[in-house]
Amino acid sequence: SNEAVLDEHSIAGLRSEVTGSVLLPEDDGYDEARRVWNGMIDRRPAAVVRAASVGDVAPVVRFAREHGLPIAVRGGGHNVAGNGTVDAGLVLGLGGLREVGGEPAEGTVRVQPGATLADMDAATARYGLAVPTGVVSSTGVAGLTLGGGFGWLTRSDGLAADNLLSVDLVTADGSALTASETENPDLFWGLRGGGGNFGVATSFTFRARPLPAEVFSGNLVYYGPEHWTIALQAWERWTRDLPDELTSIVSVLVPPESWELGSEPTLVIGFCWASEDRAEGERLVEELRQAAPPDAEAVEPVPWLQWQSQADELFPKGVRAYWKNTSFDRLDDEVIALILGRGAEQTWRGTAFDIHHLGGAYGRVPEDATPFPNRSARFWLNIYGFWDVASEDAARINFVRGFATDMRPFATGGQYINFMGAEPGQDPASLALSVYGTDKLERLVALKRTYDPENLFRLNHNIQPAMA
Ligand code: FAD
Repeated sequence: SNEAVLDEHSIAGLRSEVTGSVLLPEDDGYDEARRVWNGMIDRRPAAVVRAASVGDVAPVVRFAREHGLPIAVRGGGHNVAGNGTVDAGLVLGLGGLREVGGEPAEGTVRVQPGATLADMDAATARYGLAVPTGVVSSTGVAGLTLGGGFGWLTRSDGLAADNLLSVDLVTADGSALTASETENPDLFWGLRGGGGNFGVATSFTFRARPLPAEVFSGNLVYYGPEHWTIALQAWERWTRDLPDELTSIVSVLVPPESWELGSEPTLVIGFCWASEDRAEGERLVEELRQAAPPDAEAVEPVPWLQWQSQADELFPKGVRAYWKNTSFDRLDDEVIALILGRGAEQTWRGTAFDIHHLGGAYGRVPEDATPFPNRSARFWLNIYGFWDVASEDAARINFVRGFATDMRPFATGGQYINFMGAEPGQDPASLALSVYGTDKLERLVALKRTYDPENLFRLNHNIQPAMA
């Protein structure tokens, strides 16, 4: 058993090699340290190592390999599928390594692997800069970027991964290397959507873009389902011809109490205008407002950090969660009816969904430039189920699955690994194929064979070295 493997002698050896703490089941703080964002994931690692320096990474990787222990690599801990922790294995917790530096004058930002979006945004905002990331500020930069990274700057600047300049990585044999367009470019390709399959990232360097101190952004709110069809039809027409600087996300949800929007299912059209030209932003939003007058709205220039944390409250740590996602292009009356029917059915707080409008800079990245699937997708739907009590697990999971099944006829290919819940029992090879498609999966498998032939890093959306 793993208890026999992790005898006192081995643990003492590990402790002597790292500057961070090594928590065992009997230690104070172990219960807190084993937890991740998704409260449904209840695992008991043999040890949780909390790295105190980047130098702690290689010894932990070697230790895991030498003792045959599965290793869970954790940044922000938001992985929905539960890959941030493990039964009877090692957790390598990087959450203490949150420094953000780089050369802001040159428009580059370098972050440690435990930085959250909030950490990076706070550091860049000081220089009037921003890196495209996601919409909830406690999310880890590491996991988000390695999977892709959708957010409020996706149309203006692409995915988080599209803005990567280089990654420092510790591979399965404990050696360190750098991946960029010029160094190990094949590996750099794989790190922009291939997830945590190839090693432990110890640093990410991004290109940052200038952004006004206050961004013109906001939400148009539609209360009753009777207003939703017009809103979604108008939104679809609006999205056909928008400048890149406008990124927009439609959400259907029962708002959290603090939003003071009532307790009925509500449709919200959120937008962010990444431009100095406020008048043009106003003009574009007015077009939508005229086509579908909202029941309420909050539209104004707000400090970037405020906008980047506006959805935080929706996603408290410790909720139980199961998510699914799909790309699609058609948002005609048939698909609108399907989506809004599901929205009206979803009458509880928690489970909700977002429709991300894509195209723009995201869509101009050539399909084969990164492993991220489907650059031609017009829209991406993320169905995010979360709830508080175990007795609701089956009902909520069924809702998410049912909705995803309804959308299958309209899916245009690929899945986004970061919006995928756990699918125990599903064959990893067919799952990976459904994410990446044949050509990209072949390239990823070749990289896996080179950088992690024994699949040490398998607690992730796994690319198996033996996949055909
Ligand atoms: P972790 O659980 O720490 O890591 C996730 C996985 O990434 C790990 O299992 C591991 O495989 C890998 N990994 C992490 N760190 C490293 C490392 N240093 N080296 C190698 N591999 C590593 N995604 C979006 O694109 N846009 C959003 O707006 C968005 N919002 C979200 C909001 C919430 C509340 C949540 C829970 C998730 C959201 N996501 C979003 C999804 C998010 O991108 C994924 O959950 C992602 O995995 C989170 O990364 P993390 O570092 O926080 O998670």
